Amino acid sequence: MDKDAGRARVAGLAALDAEVAGCRRCPRLVAWREQTARDKVLRYRDETYWGRPVPGFGDPAARILIVGLAPAAHGGNRTGRIFTGDRSGDFLYRALFEDGLSSSAISQRRDDGLVLTDVRVSAVVHCAPPLNKPTTDERDACLPFLGRELALLADVQVIVALGAFGWDGALRALNDLGHEVPRPRPRFGHAAEARVGPYVVVGSFHPSQQNTFTGKLTAEMLGAVIARSRELAGLGPVRLAAL
Ligand code: SF4
Repeated sequence: MDKDAGRARVAGLAALDAEVAGCRRCPRLVAWREQTARDKVLRYRDETYWGRPVPGFGDPAARILIVGLAPAAHGGNRTGRIFTGDRSGDFLYRALFEDGLSSSAISQRRDDGLVLTDVRVSAVVHCAPPLNKPTTDERDACLPFLGRELALLADVQVIVALGAFGWDGALRALNDLGHEVPRPRPRFGHAAEARVGPYVVVGSFHPSQQNTFTGKLTAEMLGAVIARSRELAGLGPVRLAAL
């Protein structure tokens, strides 16, 4: 990528992120994210919550885009960075660090200096939803942001979809961008792969506490998906943790 194209992409993503962060399209989610930010939980009572939509985060030259469901009420909705400030995020960023894609195993807050390389993390829905369940209308309202993000991230080759919601959202966004989704529609599963246009969509169980505490998703399982995605994206299979 030449310098002018690189600058344009960075500017485009910054503009998109700012637009996302200022969005108030979904009344129920606006009310919930702001109420949660006011009420807080005891352990974070002294913190100022972000309380706004949480944009994607990572490398503008990413070859891998990770797509989750939505920010957590006291995670991303508190810290302002996606998958940051809760156990799901801790699990995900450790896997990225161990695969050489993150400068740290811990993502704490927006200004902690953490840098992602070759990967960006985003979500289908950018506002924290009650019970982690956005409505269909809310998903559809937010989905164009994911399509625009993908269109800007011209180096992305692999989309890691976290959970069935992330998988479905990724396929919908690709379809909306004009990429033909195979029929029958590829089904979500852990380590499932689907080729859609120039992309490979790779499924992973979501790193929710429900999945990680029960062992449905182990660090090894997520690490294997990330390593496979590195390989598909032409980044090689080497894991730092193995060095
Ligand atoms: S969920 Fe998406 S579309 Fe709805 S208010 Fe939040 S950022 Fe806007």
